[in-house]
Amino acid sequence: MICSRCSQRAILSQRYSGLHLCQDHFVEDFERRVAKTVRENGMMPDGERIAVAVSGGKDSTALLLVLKKILADRDVEMVAVTVDEGIAGYRDDTVAAARSICERLGVEQQIVSFQEEFGFKLDEIVDGKDAAPCTFCGVFRKSALNRAAKRLGATKVATGHNLDDEAQSVMMNYLKGDIERLLRFRPRREQPGLVPRVKPLRDIPEKETALYCMVNAAFTESRECPYAQLSLRADVRDMMNRIERLFPGTRHSALQGFEEIAEMAKGRWTGIDLERCRRCGEPCVRDICKACELLERLKL
Ligand code: SF4
Ligand SMILES: [Zn+2]
Ligand SMILES: [Zn+2]
Repeated sequence: MICSRCSQRAILSQRYSGLHLCQDHFVEDFERRVAKTVRENGMMPDGERIAVAVSGGKDSTALLLVLKKILADRDVEMVAVTVDEGIAGYRDDTVAAARSICERLGVEQQIVSFQEEFGFKLDEIVDGKDAAPCTFCGVFRKSALNRAAKRLGATKVATGHNLDDEAQSVMMNYLKGDIERLLRFRPRREQPGLVPRVKPLRDIPEKETALYCMVNAAFTESRECPYAQLSLRADVRDMMNRIERLFPGTRHSALQGFEEIAEMAKGRWTGIDLERCRRCGEPCVRDICKACELLERLKL
């Protein structure tokens, strides 16, 4: 297969765009699209200090690589934050991979752990309990990232969520009938105590983040989290992958449909004013944040 833009051999077939791309044109296309998302959404104006969530997996590694490149001439600082949830046989390797990519790119790295922040490892939380690991993990990780970003004086938190993740999240919220949570996906305004989150890779398919790591010689641990298969997301991911194979472009249209709904909700849904948690001071919807509520449940 030959590249649609030159005569070199293509390494990627983008079924949703109909393009075949060689390595050079793939890299150019990837970086151009991420730079466009960052620019058009005002994600990283000059003077910002961005806390980049780097787990050591392919998405966050691709994020750090591409941001380092597209922000090279800009007055934007980056600091990497790696959250160690405490998942034996999985997280140690990815934390090491995160350390290595940060060292290679000369980016300062801060490692925060559930153990230090909350007094538990994720493995201890789920051990023998009827607990959904991803629910606990997601809540505590968000809280740990926000706390770390504030300590580091960051103005934004950038995460490596890709197009597949975003389309899955939209679909999961539809399936749960949780439209309020769905709309919170596109926050309307900044909230006190919450460092705004941005997702520069949200238009990039997962397969392409992995390819971008490969062509940049950043090989990441491909093993999956041992708890991943226990989540609703795993089923939604399989379903969306199957549909995408049959109808290329479905992920884009799922996200596009959500953007239209979010646009229509403008003015009718102004969002929730967050309060400060009575226990830890982190922003929350009710008087106690989700992390403190779950910690309380774990003590029972
Ligand atoms: S799969 Fe679930 S438990 Fe594993 S890292 Fe992701 S959110 Fe956490
Ligand atoms: Zn080419
Ligand atoms: Zn709290």
